[in-house]
Amino acid sequence: MDTTETKNAIFPKGEHVPAAYFTGTAWLNMLVPHNPTFNTTVGNVVFEPGCRNNWHSHKGGQILICTDGEGYYQEKGKPIQLLRKGDVVQILPNLIHWHGATPTSEFTHIAIGPNAQMGAADWLEPVTDDEYNSYQP
Ligand code: MN
Repeated sequence: MDTTETKNAIFPKGEHVPAAYFTGTAWLNMLVPHNPTFNTTVGNVVFEPGCRNNWHSHKGGQILICTDGEGYYQEKGKPIQLLRKGDVVQILPNLIHWHGATPTSEFTHIAIGPNAQMGAADWLEPVTDDEYNSYQP
């Protein structure tokens, strides 16, 4: 697929994300790289249908702003939440969670990483198919 394709998207898709921490295909367009003035990263992430990241946490927390398609978000020990364009998710520091697309829709969110001086994400095990398919409307 053409990684520069935009269609009606706000931002170009950017680069493929490393497969090590994702199941399926996703793209990252780093809009604001880490810098010592803002200590806040901003990236646009596009997940293909069925794609999700591994269980993980962020030392400085994370804010997701959903801009297109339908996605999933799950905190450890809680049910999967459905995400749609316009939803905003506030993820507390060190909270174990994952996010990604639904099985049938591409999904785009802007990921804001506050307190970026505290370090990168801590990556854990992949989300199993059983976990991913546990969504109940
Ligand atoms: Mn996250």
